[in-house]
Amino acid sequence: MRLVLLGPPGAGKGTQAKRIADEYRVPHISTGDILRENLRAETPLGLEAKGFMDRGELVPDEVLVGIIRDRLGKPDCAGGFMLDGYPRTIPQATALGEILGEKGTPLDVVLNIDVPDEELVSRLSGRRMCECGASYHVQFNPPAVEGVCDACGGRLYQRDDDKEDAIRNRLQVYSDQTQPLIDFYSKESLLASVDGTGGIDEIFAAIKKILDAYK
Ligand code: ADP
Ligand code: ADP
Ligand code: ZN
Repeated sequence: MRLVLLGPPGAGKGTQAKRIADEYRVPHISTGDILRENLRAETPLGLEAKGFMDRGELVPDEVLVGIIRDRLGKPDCAGGFMLDGYPRTIPQATALGEILGEKGTPLDVVLNIDVPDEELVSRLSGRRMCECGASYHVQFNPPAVEGVCDACGGRLYQRDDDKEDAIRNRLQVYSDQTQPLIDFYSKESLLASVDGTGGIDEIFAAIKKILDAYK
């Protein structure tokens, strides 16, 4: 299965991606996680990306296309993959189409998780992350022990870009640059949408109904 998860910041892409990866045995490729790992390790890529990420802006397309080209070339992607946070612009989507076209392995489906703006702000402002990529919410999805990751025991932290100003900016960037992908992929007949409001398990059940067709 070759899958893209689409949706605004805070839609629950990362949360659902963990479950999808377990259920369908596909690698979960989160460009946000890759960039944050590079930030922590202070690689040249991380240093280049930092300013954009702190401001809630997009990192330039060439950088992301390079990351994705490399990652999709790894052996674990041969049997399929799930992209989370890529593509975010039309040029990124076009580049992805070219990369996959060269290999003769086009996308199967683009799953769009739909959540209204008011809900996104409260999800993002209460989000707590772990370095392992797991995400929690102080109220909606708390870990068993406060401040500690259920999956790996790591310490949870609040992302710098999950503060009010950067959140507003990210939602604006989403509607300007990423939302047009909904139309783009619906014209390619690849789009499937799920209602991303409601409980996490309930949403996962709706996602399974869609994805079972591509197993
Ligand atoms: P994304 O990867 O799309 O930015 P996340 O998966 O990190 O989103 O989720 C954003 C925040 O919302 C997190 O704090 C997460 O725990 C919480 N969350 C995820 N799904 C739901 C849901 N169905 N209802 C309420 N909160 C949710
Ligand atoms: P969210 O949880 O809001 O969906 P991510 O973790 O996917 O956020 O991304 C965090 C930040 O990393 C983005 O605000 C952006 O600066 C950068 N980023 C991640 N993926 C991309 C991408 N495909 N193109 C450009 N910038 C990206
Ligand atoms: Zn963890």
